[in-house]
Amino acid sequence: MDATRRFFISADLEGVAGVVASEELRPGKAEYDWARRLLADEVNAAVRGIRRADAAAEVVVSDGHGGYRNILPADLDPTATLLRGKPRPLAMVDGIRSGDEALFIGYHPRAGVRGTLSHTFDDAVVDLRCNGRPLGEAGLNAAVLTEVGATLLLVSGSDALAAEVAELSADVGTVVVSTAVSSSAAESVHPSVACERIEDAVHALVTARGGGHVRIEGPVTVDVDLAFAVQADAASVPPPVTRTGERSVRVVAPTMAEAYRWIRTIVALAAHR
Ligand SMILES: [Zn+2]
Repeated sequence: MDATRRFFISADLEGVAGVVASEELRPGKAEYDWARRLLADEVNAAVRGIRRADAAAEVVVSDGHGGYRNILPADLDPTATLLRGKPRPLAMVDGIRSGDEALFIGYHPRAGVRGTLSHTFDDAVVDLRCNGRPLGEAGLNAAVLTEVGATLLLVSGSDALAAEVAELSADVGTVVVSTAVSSSAAESVHPSVACERIEDAVHALVTARGGGHVRIEGPVTVDVDLAFAVQADAASVPPPVTRTGERSVRVVAPTMAEAYRWIRTIVALAAHR
């Protein structure tokens, strides 16, 4: 008999059906309350899709938006465990293990792309490349989990995100729950339809043992273009980070996981300037 399969669901908020504006993304804002509940609904739909195909699987949900404390613990499907809170060294994919099958729910397009709520970790980042390849959160997280020995089954979010993921790997499934009109406007399906689409797509991919990989071989050269020169000043304080332009910095790391930790460091330094 096969070993127990372990599924790792990384959850973000910007790509949940219906979400279009920053007021819906921040704790303390009145509209955040419904958005966090719709996120839990979409994650639970993914858990149901897994359970329909494999009742014995282990399912871990990693909350990865803002303070990493969006899904109310009691709202989560009781058959899954919840990873929440920060900091975590590998952020949105911290806790991923070799052999895991990953799903990204509520994800958004990378910085610079025309799509709803597109960004890469923070608005300080204008563009980010690893070994010359432009990557956003979906691509970076996929590259880290690929290096660890995990597989990415599916990504759900907007139409622009699906196009971005298709370029990364043709084998990763996508679920589109909204179509961008502008950076803060979209046409979304009803939340119940989004959940149905997610559940059915997850069920099909788990059954078929599908999924793909995004391989970035080390050493990894990370180039980050920031919005303002002062952000590059702050980001290039640690000696391994070098200045490559007025608003650009570079770091070279032996592995994708280390590159990812440097990216988180650069973003944290730049964002707090
Ligand atoms: Zn987010």
